[in-house]
Amino acid sequence: MKRRIILLGPPGSGKGTLAARLQQEFGLNHVSSGHLLRREVERGSVIGQSVKVFLEKGELVPDRSMLRFMGEWIKSAPVNEGFLLDGFPRTMSQARALDEWLAARNAPIEAVILYDCDLKLILDRITGRWSCSKCGRVYHIYSVPPKAAGLCEDCLGALTQRADDRETVVRKRFEIYKRQTKPLAKYYEQQGKLTVVDAALSPDERFAKSAAALN
Ligand SMILES: [Zn+2]
Repeated sequence: MKRRIILLGPPGSGKGTLAARLQQEFGLNHVSSGHLLRREVERGSVIGQSVKVFLEKGELVPDRSMLRFMGEWIKSAPVNEGFLLDGFPRTMSQARALDEWLAARNAPIEAVILYDCDLKLILDRITGRWSCSKCGRVYHIYSVPPKAAGLCEDCLGALTQRADDRETVVRKRFEIYKRQTKPLAKYYEQQGKLTVVDAALSPDERFAKSAAALN
């Protein structure tokens, strides 16, 4: 089974939910760069302070900051145990850097799954998304509602909507995604590693297609 995997797709394509399921079923280590960065923002670290404004505006964190941040992460990451990388790379220079870092450790990317998705589907999904302010668990008012309104089922933390879940921000992020991230699909296709999954499929169908790509 392939164990070093990249998930590509616009924010709101359902990547996060699927990553959680792949992690559970296959024991893959889910690494979300967005989650890692938000943790730094909460800590108020130097990198956190420098990326906060970009996260809030829904803009991509500048390449240089992202490369430094993820370059540090990968130094201590157990790459031989595998990972499911979500949110990085987002630009061609990040993709090339990642390939170099992994080549140096003789642990190349083995598969890339793209959740292909149009803007309308994302708007429907993302504007209903709420997450726990304590543990980060994600709910959705339509598809994954919490048992008690406004409360996390795991830790009873209050559910909040992220500042970057507003519609204009979502539209902007989608534009950025199309412009900068879609060329990555081509890059990985040329390496023979890409599988495209239609994000409009049901969660079970998406999971089955994704799982098949790892075998
Ligand atoms: Zn919680």
